[in-house]
Amino acid sequence: MQAFTFGQSKARVIYPDDTAQKVTFKDIAGVKEAKEELQEIVQFLKEPQKFLDIGAQIPKGVMLMGAPGTGKTLLARAVAGEAGVPFFHLSGSEFVEMFVGVGASRVRDLFRMVKKESPAIIFVDEIDAVGRVRGTGVGGGNDEREQTLNQILVEMDGFEPNEKIIVMAATNRPDVLDPALLRPGRFDRRVILDLPDINDREEILKIHARKKPLGEDVNLRTVSERTPGFSGADLYSLMNEGAILAARENRTKVSQYDLIRSIEKVMIGPERRSHLLSDEEKRVTAYHEGGHALLASLLPYADPVHKITIISRGHAAGYTLKLPTEERQFHTRREFLDDITVSLGGYAAEVMLFDNLTTGPSNDLQVATGLAHDMVAKYGMSAGIGPIAFEASGGVLLARGGFIERDYSQDVAMRIDKEVEIIMNDGLRRAKELLTKHKLVLDAIAAELIRVETMERDEYEKILMLHGIKARRKIGEEPYVALTAVAEEQKSEAVAKPEAALSCAPAAPSLKVTHETVVTESSGKSATPKRPREQKK
Ligand code: ADP
Ligand code: MG
Ligand code: ZN
Repeated sequence: MQAFTFGQSKARVIYPDDTAQKVTFKDIAGVKEAKEELQEIVQFLKEPQKFLDIGAQIPKGVMLMGAPGTGKTLLARAVAGEAGVPFFHLSGSEFVEMFVGVGASRVRDLFRMVKKESPAIIFVDEIDAVGRVRGTGVGGGNDEREQTLNQILVEMDGFEPNEKIIVMAATNRPDVLDPALLRPGRFDRRVILDLPDINDREEILKIHARKKPLGEDVNLRTVSERTPGFSGADLYSLMNEGAILAARENRTKVSQYDLIRSIEKVMIGPERRSHLLSDEEKRVTAYHEGGHALLASLLPYADPVHKITIISRGHAAGYTLKLPTEERQFHTRREFLDDITVSLGGYAAEVMLFDNLTTGPSNDLQVATGLAHDMVAKYGMSAGIGPIAFEASGGVLLARGGFIERDYSQDVAMRIDKEVEIIMNDGLRRAKELLTKHKLVLDAIAAELIRVETMERDEYEKILMLHGIKARRKIGEEPYVALTAVAEEQKSEAVAKPEAALSCAPAAPSLKVTHETVVTESSGKSATPKRPREQKK
């Protein structure tokens, strides 16, 4: 990598002819969806004219989101490698450092310089260092940083499509990002990187074993079985540690024992960034996520399940960041009730299956309570209070931990709380009833999750099918459930049916149900905004 002279800049550039530095998609295992998503950027950078001639809208900015060590930096480099364009790389903190005292003009210079080399990629790693919500910096704001950020945004706003520059950025803290960064025309393309599941881990180990002679006894599958929760970077260190152990003992090949010993070394090492899931944690998480998923499939107004994973939990900051779903213009009362029930599915499963609760569902509870609160206070959807809106819709940013401005009396507040409690308890009751009724399916989903860690929609629906449940294809459709699918003799009609639907205004964007690791159809879509129409396949 060569540094380019740019004041005292620390920015680096990799040119396509620098083969020693070249990274391509082949060097990255897993993150399949992220790679697919980025193919389009690669295609554009390769043949920009083709896209420009046809008037296609090209994204300006791509935000990579994922836990530390999931390969964000690597993937950004691979996009440049695949496209064969120069890659300008600098980190958010370097950005701030670099511009102290000189401010925005430097940013302008940088972009001007990159434009000369276009098509090209500018990559701002760890952008949260510059892109935190403005005015909340440690020590009460940081003018320099804000100016820098503003200038980046100004530059991006001013891009013409024919400038053929893609700005990529990476963060493992999407929750602290300034929303201005994510507006249309800026980093409006979001790519989420998950921690690797068992198969991905094996593939990553294979990649890093390429240049290391392995002993006959080495079984990378076993190593991947023992490393749930490891990131790509952890697996890289593991391989490396194994080689060091072998070399230290003057052996020419890495043995299985070297690798197994290295698991622990990586876990306790200073580099360690993620944590290993214990068997018990895996089990609890599998039931938790299974609970969400199964309810999402059983309740007619919930978003269908798109993917389930037990791996990214606690790291999936990316999943908590959702755009409003564009598909649904109105939210009905039944949708709200089903969403609340789905949100409580993890909690319900944990209560049912395990004696003690984990802290896992706390975000779920927050989301569900927020929805219930809106039903009561915004949309007039509760029986006890009726059609009074105590709060304006929109503008209340619950997800940011913001406050709700109360412009009603203490007495009303108590009545609202009471109604919220009723809705929540009702949701929990429905959740528990359905999960009890379909306990065998829940067991089957959990067992498979423990085995494979991640299931795509097809694999998941196969399990449902085996148990006589045919997933529905449309919102509002009742799923087909064969009588044999019921686990327990049940006064099944006891399952509460919410009353007829009332229509209401769209929900505020921040209030969409988000599950940490069950990605439902529409939430999956909303995590990656829709492509412009022209490019639709
Ligand atoms: P991040 O930027 O997300 O923190 P990096 O891209 O810096 O992660 O990853 C650090 C190293 O870990 C990479 O250089 C690579 O060796 C390894 N690594 C991470 N993810 C993967 C992956 N999916 N496939 C192969 N190697 C990976
Ligand atoms: Mg990185
Ligand atoms: Zn959950």
